[in-house]
Amino acid sequence: MSKRDYYDILGVSKDASKEEIKKSYRKLARKYHPDVNKDQNAPEKFKEAKEAYEVLSDEQKRSQYDQFGHAGPQGQGFGGGGFGGQDFGGFGDIFDMFFGGGGGRRDPNAPRQGNDLQYTMVLDFEEAIFGKETDVELPKEETCDTCHGSGAKPGTKPETCTHCKGSGQLNVEQNTPFGRVVNKRVCHHCNGTGKKIKDKCSTCGGNGKVKKKKKIHISIPAGIDDGQQIRIAGQGEPGANGGPAGDLYVVVQVRDHEFYQRDGDHIFCEMPVTYAQAALGDEVEIPTVHGKVKLKVPAGTQTGKTFRLKGKGAPNVRGYGHGDQHVRIRVITPTNLTAKQKELLREFNDLSGNEPTGEQEDSFFSRVKRAFKGD
Ligand SMILES: [Zn+2]
Ligand SMILES: [Zn+2]
Repeated sequence: MSKRDYYDILGVSKDASKEEIKKSYRKLARKYHPDVNKDQNAPEKFKEAKEAYEVLSDEQKRSQYDQFGHAGPQGQGFGGGGFGGQDFGGFGDIFDMFFGGGGGRRDPNAPRQGNDLQYTMVLDFEEAIFGKETDVELPKEETCDTCHGSGAKPGTKPETCTHCKGSGQLNVEQNTPFGRVVNKRVCHHCNGTGKKIKDKCSTCGGNGKVKKKKKIHISIPAGIDDGQQIRIAGQGEPGANGGPAGDLYVVVQVRDHEFYQRDGDHIFCEMPVTYAQAALGDEVEIPTVHGKVKLKVPAGTQTGKTFRLKGKGAPNVRGYGHGDQHVRIRVITPTNLTAKQKELLREFNDLSGNEPTGEQEDSFFSRVKRAFKGD
């Protein structure tokens, strides 16, 4: 089954503000929340809206979605409900709405998704154009193999904290002028985990996680541009209590090139030609990232004239064809002339009547002459 567009699900436009997205999501959540809507399709609709909201309300995930759609450049997708790793109950926002606040407190024993990680990858200009398959070694927290993340010595189990009875919270009673008030505080005996580890795992020291270097394969899609990012699902930090791992975001930086500049899918360059080539016309070889291309420079070409080499730009990262290469001509004034060259140029100058010739220059030069007359 093909997935519906997240913007369509929420009924907002592609350029909707954060507020609009939130407002629309709240409306849908109120309508389809399984506690209020007993229709058999309601949970599915609720889940769909929640997933759309989780992506579009997160700037990073939204830009990723805008660039790559549901599939993502690696075909790993945004996954059904994979984001956030929260069940209905964990969604404080909704519960604040239904129960007037305070109901969304998280159960310390509930599965939690691990944090996302970010990695910056620097690419050469041409690597970004053509894409790249590469392995990187990242220092990562991994679930401890010895205790499988429990933090307890093999053969033992973490015990439920006796102070908070596993809830991770303590009721603190206070006398106030208005009577006795009960406040909830994080249990300081277990730091809110609800568990107590008597015999700590010696590998991880009771942490349940160890730092390791991990080799991760990264597929850089052809046409990726400076500042864009790739999401690699499940390669973030490990989750807690059996929750899923977070995601890895690879942020791409592209090095400048000495000849080419890039703007989106288009590549720009400046090509020097000699005065004679520009005046007489010539066929010149232009480097492109796809190899040399012959360009016919017509006689009388001025500096600044731009030619377009169709399809010689960067491939579109979403697969929509190629951009073009735009070549700006720059006529180079000769220097270090030999005596013979100087003599020929003087002769040329005398023949031209000491005035620039050429259609564009005529009007320019007459304006200069008028300026002199007004002196
Ligand atoms: Zn361990
Ligand atoms: Zn406790």
